[in-house]
Amino acid sequence: MSQPESAATHRNFIGGKWIESVSGETYRTVNPARPSQVVGEFQASVPQDAENAIIAAAAAAPGWGRMPAPQRGSLLYKALNIIERRADELARAITIEEGKPIADSTGEVKRAMNILEYAAGEGRRLFGYTTPSELPDTAAYTFKRPLGVVSIITPWNFPVAIPVWKIAPALICGNAIVFKPASGAPLAATIIAEMFEEAGLPTGVFNLITGPGGSIGNTLVDDPRVNAISFTGSTEIGTRIYARGAEALKKVQAELGGKNAAIVMNDADLDKAVPGIVQGAFGSTGQRCTATSRAIVEKDVFGEFMDRLIEQTKALTIGDGIDPSNDIAPLSSKSQFDTVREYIGVGTEEGAKLVFGGHVLEGPEWEGGYYVEPTIFTDVPLNSRIAQEEIFGPVLTVFEADGVEDAVRISNSVQFGLSSSIYTRDLVLAHEYINTVETGMVHVNAPTLGGEVHLPFGGLKASGVGQREQGTEGFDFYTETITAYIDYSAGNRERSRFI
Ligand code: NDP
Repeated sequence: MSQPESAATHRNFIGGKWIESVSGETYRTVNPARPSQVVGEFQASVPQDAENAIIAAAAAAPGWGRMPAPQRGSLLYKALNIIERRADELARAITIEEGKPIADSTGEVKRAMNILEYAAGEGRRLFGYTTPSELPDTAAYTFKRPLGVVSIITPWNFPVAIPVWKIAPALICGNAIVFKPASGAPLAATIIAEMFEEAGLPTGVFNLITGPGGSIGNTLVDDPRVNAISFTGSTEIGTRIYARGAEALKKVQAELGGKNAAIVMNDADLDKAVPGIVQGAFGSTGQRCTATSRAIVEKDVFGEFMDRLIEQTKALTIGDGIDPSNDIAPLSSKSQFDTVREYIGVGTEEGAKLVFGGHVLEGPEWEGGYYVEPTIFTDVPLNSRIAQEEIFGPVLTVFEADGVEDAVRISNSVQFGLSSSIYTRDLVLAHEYINTVETGMVHVNAPTLGGEVHLPFGGLKASGVGQREQGTEGFDFYTETITAYIDYSAGNRERSRFI
């Protein structure tokens, strides 16, 4: 079996040095398209490694925080140039480790570049404001101060974009970071650390530790030298982290799961709606937090929508994501594969009608890869598990709706509230929908997917808590706002103090 060039042993990056875990243990990741292929060996870190990384970050934070923000921005621009130079390598690393089609990986790297560009420029803004004081000869203004040390904990499904959309704003705001990527995607994280090292960040500003969240996660949250935690992942783990952080009065940002719905009204342009929903449901093998996992279709157009949906889904090609001709790649891991397979079984048991797909692809030609066909259910009971729970795979549930109110009722019937969309030509209806749908991001005549880096990203309800990521809100999370009053009057002066 030939090994990819990256099947090496990788280390943690702590205090400017590439070092082994004090545990002396490593673990492997494999290519989900061909699990016999080892992608790399990574450090199985333990709490002592996490503490060492926090100590390094705490030592670096004051100096980094005092460096003028435009100078920090120059270092981020260097990181941007490096990521641009290594973009193909990084995209390939995503695909061989996480599985997603190479075009999606390339798009993800581009997204990370956009974030770096945006954050680097913020070094020349990071605005506070001035306002007239109620007292004479007094200046009053606000400014932003870094938090200190931030723990960054990320999922495997966007192993480059999500880390960078946390790391870049954290750094430009003057914080030192400890970055713990998902155990399933440490290769991309290692390359990101190499890029920031090459960009010339001061020692200890950027620290990477790999290994199981279950054993090192508590240290990254509880250690008193950690001032804030930025987490993206499941609602279950995020809820625990939020509670632990709150106990210590730390800032916590938690971006969590989704169960996103796209509504198709009778007047929708199906030439737009059907491909948008196919892309939303099955692109990146359904492993996006903003994936379309529900389509809610008004009844007059339901039949035609289903015919076109099945026809376009049939045309999707399945195979190794490294081959650019494949639309659907494997699920990212054995545990994702087992989960999605289980949900497909549960859907049928709960009375939903399987109208397309539903099989796993096994046999020598699939090389043990974690492939599941794109799968479509109709007649789905609203309270069933496949209607309510995040599946995180290429499974679409389709509901029939009787008018817009019914469609929005179905859309809002889940605990999640990340992203949503509606296809309609009626502007009045679209605005009514925007004002009532319970999601943090809303799209009209476009898929539930994605977002732009200079606009806030995040969800309502069980999809997120804490300040939004990206946009100007993203910088607010990584800073404290300080209010300053300066009395520049000559001599003593009577002044009233209310507080
Ligand atoms: P998990 O919640 O399982 O893991 C996320 C991260 O948390 C990983 O790095 C994991 O480490 C770590 N972790 C696990 N246990 C702990 C713990 N006790 N303390 C601290 N950290 C811990 O999520 P997944 O990686 O499976 O990612 C998929 C989920 O992410 C989906 O629910 C998806 O919707 C959500 N997501 C949300 C987005 C959003 O912006 N709203 C965007 C993208 C994904 P380890 O891997 O070692 O277990």
